[in-house]
Amino acid sequence: MQCGLLGEKLCHSYSPQIHGYFAPYNYMLFEKAPGELEAFLRSGQFSGLNVTIPYKKAVIPYLDALTDRARELGAVNTIVRRPDGTLLGHNTDYYGFSSMLSRSGLSVKGKKALVLGSGGASATVQAVLKEKGANVVVISRTGDNHYGNLHLHRDAAIIVNATPVGTYPEVAYSPIELSQFDNLEGVLDLIYNPARTQLLLEAEKRGLIAENGLWMLVAQAKESAQWFTGSPISDIRTEEVYHKMRLQMNNIVLIGMPGCGKSTIGKQLSEKLGKTFVDADAVIEQQTGMSIPEIFSAHGQAYFRNLETDVLANLGIRSGLVIATGGGCVTQPENYLHLHRNSTIVWLERNLHSLPTDGRPLSQAGNLPQMYQARKPLYQAFADITLENNGMPNETVENLIQVLYGEDFR
Ligand code: NAP
Repeated sequence: MQCGLLGEKLCHSYSPQIHGYFAPYNYMLFEKAPGELEAFLRSGQFSGLNVTIPYKKAVIPYLDALTDRARELGAVNTIVRRPDGTLLGHNTDYYGFSSMLSRSGLSVKGKKALVLGSGGASATVQAVLKEKGANVVVISRTGDNHYGNLHLHRDAAIIVNATPVGTYPEVAYSPIELSQFDNLEGVLDLIYNPARTQLLLEAEKRGLIAENGLWMLVAQAKESAQWFTGSPISDIRTEEVYHKMRLQMNNIVLIGMPGCGKSTIGKQLSEKLGKTFVDADAVIEQQTGMSIPEIFSAHGQAYFRNLETDVLANLGIRSGLVIATGGGCVTQPENYLHLHRNSTIVWLERNLHSLPTDGRPLSQAGNLPQMYQARKPLYQAFADITLENNGMPNETVENLIQVLYGEDFR
């Protein structure tokens, strides 16, 4: 059985992996220019297709039938070849967003929901929200409700970002400032790379419900896989696949005192997980052509910290890395956002008397206990997970994999 994803530019698609987790069919990327669309759809080279930007509307004239949902939304993201060879178009984004909304725990009935953007995904989001009883307002750069008259909607309870603003690599941008909304309960962002967009980081800081679009991506794929195979797939599989994809896409960042084992553990962990290991201090040394002690003695600590923040900002937006950080990175509060955006942050705790000091300018000053007392609350504040590293490195790595992946890791 040959399935795949049809789109114009598909370089960073996660769909092959996601479908691979759901069902055993072949899943390919079909990157086609607009002029190739008709010939491809008529070629019969596929049994099932997912469709993405910019073809969700463009495929419709070549299909023999549409489900009610696809007709209502005017957009198709799933095509199935029926036994008689005819093509049926469906929209599983509706199920995907509906499932994302339920999972968020937000109740929208009778509340004002702002949907940012007026493209294809926005139409799906609007349909789901309206069906759940929300009072939907579309914020569009060119509509009656736009980014210049948001004061009319201070009472909004839910915001859904259906624009690409904030997507990797332009992660510093947010489509909207949240401080102007008095009754906000939650923010849903359809973007899943990075895991926490600038908008979601702001929502999280305000204590609001904040969810990214990975669940929607996985849920819509599950429904597509059911259409392709004709067999039901349990909802538990959505949870499992979501968990696997989240861990695969996220970085794992190791923080902790100088010499606590971040590089050793990081290298072993990356090998076990098939992730790429990066030592932030090594990147700084490579970029400057100087060792860390040389940078400290030539330019001082403040200069080093600025370099370190730039390096962490760049590493933090990438995916699938294990990153060993310098022991003092937690002293710069802005580093938290850079690392938290796309990573699980792990604090490696090691007994002070076991910490080596060679090649570590601050540790050599002989004040390790004071340094630990000062940094301990910072490590705690940064960490998602805290793990002891006082035994053999391979034991720490196994413990960490167990905490991160549980029974999912094979
Ligand atoms: P689209 O059809 O191109 O629509 C995006 C809309 O965003 C545009 O119509 C535009 O609305 C607005 N927009 C575009 N550039 C903007 C900018 N620079 N500033 C402010 N607004 C801008 O794309 P789409 O298919 O709807 O996808 C939208 C986003 O949702 C993408 O990031 C996509 O990856 C994501 N998505 C995720 C899933 C998932 O499963 N998680 C599924 C579908 C889509 P106005 O002109 O009205 O301002």
